[in-house]
Amino acid sequence: MCYSRRRSPWLFHMNGGSCNGCDIELIASLTPRYDAEQLGVRLEGSPRHADILCITGPVTHNAVNAIKTVYGQVCGPKAVVAIGSYPATTNVFIDSRTLDGPLNLHLPVDVFVPGCPPRPDAIIQGVAKAAAILAERAAKKLPANPVVMPLVGPPCNGACCAPTNKETTEVQS
Ligand code: SF4
Repeated sequence: MCYSRRRSPWLFHMNGGSCNGCDIELIASLTPRYDAEQLGVRLEGSPRHADILCITGPVTHNAVNAIKTVYGQVCGPKAVVAIGSYPATTNVFIDSRTLDGPLNLHLPVDVFVPGCPPRPDAIIQGVAKAAAILAERAAKKLPANPVVMPLVGPPCNGACCAPTNKETTEVQS
C-alpha cells in the first residue's frame, strides 16, 4: 500500500477562489507535454477516491466551508498540496475582507508550491513530495513541518528591471 501511494497518487483538485492561472497549470501538468500520468498521477472526480488534495486560490468566505467538507471526505492517510502564492499567503489580496485565507489556518498543509502561477514541472515536484509524505504517514512516520518547494523557472534576465525609455531620457537630460 505504501509503494502504491508513493508511486501512484490520485489527486482531487479544488479551487478556493483562484484566478484560474494555477488551475490551468495543474491541468497542463497532466497533459501530454508534461505527462504526470506517466508517473502514475491521476486526477479523480471524487474526493473519496483521492489520496492528495490539491488546492488553489486564496480561500474566500464562500469556499472555506466547502474546502473543509472536501478535506473530511478524503480518506486517510491523506496529504494537502497548496498550489500557488494564493493559498500560501493570499498574495496581493492579503488583508482583504472577502478572504479567510491563507489555507493553513484551516487545514494542515503538507507541501507549498510557490509561484504565480507555478510551472507544471514545479507542481509535479510538489505532488511527488506529497506522495512521499503520504507513504511515510501511512507507515506512521509523520513529517514535522510543511515543505516549501523551491521556485522552478528560467532565471531572471533583468529585463523587467531595465529602465524604460522615459526614465532613460530623464536621466540623460
Ligand atoms: S497564485 Fe497567481 S496564478 Fe495562481 S490563482 Fe493566484 S493570481 Fe492566479
